[in-house]
Amino acid sequence: MSKEKIPYKIYLEESEMPSAWYNLRADMKNKPAPLLDPKTLKPMTAEALSGVFCDELIAQELDENRAYFEIPEEIRSFYKMYRPSPLVRAYCLEEKLGTPAKIYYKFEGNNTSGSHKLNSAIAQAYYAKKQGLKGVTTETGAGQWGTALSMACSYFGLDCKVYMVKCSYEQKPFRREVMKVYGASVTPSPSTETEVGRKILAEHPGTTGSLGCAISEAVEKSMTSEGYRYVLGSVLNQVMLHQSVIGLEAKTALDKYGVKPDIIIGCAGGGSNLGGLIAPFMGEKIRGEADYRFIAVEPVSCPSLTRGVYAYDFCDTGKVCPLSKMYTLGCDFIPSSSHSGGLRYHGMNSTLSQLHYDGLMEAVSVKQTDVFEAAEYFARVEGILPAPESSHAIRVAIDEALKCKETGEEKTILFGLTGTGYFDMVAYEKFHNGQMGDYTPTDEELEKYKAKLPKV
Ligand SMILES: *Cc1c(COP(=O)(O)O)cnc(C)c1O
Repeated sequence: MSKEKIPYKIYLEESEMPSAWYNLRADMKNKPAPLLDPKTLKPMTAEALSGVFCDELIAQELDENRAYFEIPEEIRSFYKMYRPSPLVRAYCLEEKLGTPAKIYYKFEGNNTSGSHKLNSAIAQAYYAKKQGLKGVTTETGAGQWGTALSMACSYFGLDCKVYMVKCSYEQKPFRREVMKVYGASVTPSPSTETEVGRKILAEHPGTTGSLGCAISEAVEKSMTSEGYRYVLGSVLNQVMLHQSVIGLEAKTALDKYGVKPDIIIGCAGGGSNLGGLIAPFMGEKIRGEADYRFIAVEPVSCPSLTRGVYAYDFCDTGKVCPLSKMYTLGCDFIPSSSHSGGLRYHGMNSTLSQLHYDGLMEAVSVKQTDVFEAAEYFARVEGILPAPESSHAIRVAIDEALKCKETGEEKTILFGLTGTGYFDMVAYEKFHNGQMGDYTPTDEELEKYKAKLPKV
């Protein structure tokens, strides 16, 4: 197909937006293992989950047979404010690299929260409202999820209580204030508001907190507050389901021009954007209708897919959430303080874990300074200032395009550009000043945490 025929940006009409989310598990031959109750080690039932999560979300979480879930009209209306998101043909990047590869990216940073997380936040807020709840609680590390959830809650008139890891609360005052613009209450964690927070503060006075600790506080708050439930921005299969809008739109846009990607790349923290991007393509691969290479990209500092073990583990450091079978570094593993807060998670979504285990999806890890080098290269040619997390995918897309330059292969590469990096300028500053580290954990270090995995 000639260059003129494919525009720089492929926009879809509103009417071409997906009307249903796609549940990839329905097409998988080897289903992901069920969540286990941390107390009984038996599969989690809907009843057991109902004290913590909203009912309809539990139904989505536990359903591995139904392929499509209709997107309610109210959610579609909200999606229309910022979706369909553009699929961009990176002509400028291709030219600059001098590669025969054709590069496309699906850009999810075109909304105020600045990332794909809004796709699931609005769904979760809708189901909480529909259930007649007063509000939701959650944790946020870097702040993207808290921001997305605040926007979604204000839209539906729900109260939103965010526990923000204390060091981020102090280091990212602008993120914190954006959440307040949307009416959320933001508490630095650990706090004196919860029993677990008080306990942690007594044991570790002056601690600046961690994601695991903030999760424990948010869960406790939801269970002790009438009319509240806890919501989570990644890792769970319901989140991956909502994020399938990314892949469905990307596929519709590519199909319009008869383009089939050879390689599909995404960054992987808890796995929701990558799972959502690849879902419809992976469905085709599993059904034997097409073949694609899928690559998950993670930081060398938090290498769950590339160096973790496939085993049951707690989803949170506080060990209050269910056990999930996944690639994990151990729930006690605290990744070194990298600038990609969204990728600092010890485990991985269970569906993606199963796909990796079955050899259907590859995984690679990349160094932080190489990621920022790619981020800046990309910003200078394509204009968008990418989030550090998203830049992991950019790094590997560029590497694959450079391989094509060597071999002369005209491969088509699709990657997910999950968000923008305006709130990450301290990280860019460190990169510019040569103060950025590249921490890779040693085998001994990793073994220590793996040895502590729950015996299931
Ligand atoms: C949270 C986040 C991620 C990682 O989360 P996943 O659940 O793995 O998708 C990636 N990019 C951005 C911009 C994020 O905010």
